Amino acid sequence: MTDQRVHDDLVAILEETREIGWGEPADYLRDVQRRDLDALAAAVCTTEGEVVGVGHHDRALALQSVSKAFTYAVALQECGLDRVLAFIGVEPSGEAFNELSQLSDGRPFNPLINAGAIMAQALVPGDTLEDREALLLDRYSALAGGQLEVSEEVLRAEQVRADRNFALAHMLASSGMLDVDPHEVVQGYLRQCSVEVTTTQLAVMGATFASGGRNPVSGERVFDERVVQQTLSVMLTCGMYDASGGWVTQVGIPAKSGVSGAMLGVVPGAMGLATWSPRLDSHGNSIRGVELFRRLSDRWDLHVLRHR
Ligand code: GLN
Repeated sequence: MTDQRVHDDLVAILEETREIGWGEPADYLRDVQRRDLDALAAAVCTTEGEVVGVGHHDRALALQSVSKAFTYAVALQECGLDRVLAFIGVEPSGEAFNELSQLSDGRPFNPLINAGAIMAQALVPGDTLEDREALLLDRYSALAGGQLEVSEEVLRAEQVRADRNFALAHMLASSGMLDVDPHEVVQGYLRQCSVEVTTTQLAVMGATFASGGRNPVSGERVFDERVVQQTLSVMLTCGMYDASGGWVTQVGIPAKSGVSGAMLGVVPGAMGLATWSPRLDSHGNSIRGVELFRRLSDRWDLHVLRHR
């Protein structure tokens, strides 16, 4: 596919989905997102490093839960698969992203719901919160090919509404899963959720996964192939929370959504895709984002299980 064809298709699909006006942004982020309520963006980065963005693709947005996939990959890379599996399962939970749920052995169901993401944050090596954040920001930035930072404005909004996340960390602590202070772990988790990217940068992060862990723009190897395979497997089965089954059947690519309205998709060996539109459905997934992905998957035949 030529860059021009990618560009034209993205523009056409963006216009088709612009009409979908319903859905509300996350309540607690309403102030932060007031300027961006009707923002709409899509971007693609191929495994050859070609980047195409349309709409508001250069505006900053918070990673929110999309960060869960990246932190899981960092934990896998640093601690190894066996250690991470000992603390975090790989089963779809079928429940909301912030449910207080655990497998019968006390592990969170998977790393892409809040309980598992808080656990993954606790597995990132480092003596202090600052050490762990420095490592995460370094790896996130390498994925994106540009220096990423925490948005203090988003972070403040997160901190006001963190009761549920503290409850989840205490649930893990009471099961003997945490050997670090639950409050500190939640702070780290909220900070990773508040890291800002553009939609275009998010597509490059996805393309790094699509390229087996090597950033196709900078050429830097960020993760081992096995780490990427594990992360993408969980994204395919659990990335859209309790809408994951419908997602696999209709769109069929590993993905992760965030409450900011961000969505990341990865087509292994081909491309990273990112969309942004803050109005959410009842699962906390972007309404226009889901629709954009559905249409792109159809138009470009992206379903990873299609007959070839
Ligand atoms: N910061 C949000 C939370 O922890 C992230 C959730 C999300 O993006 N779905 O509740």
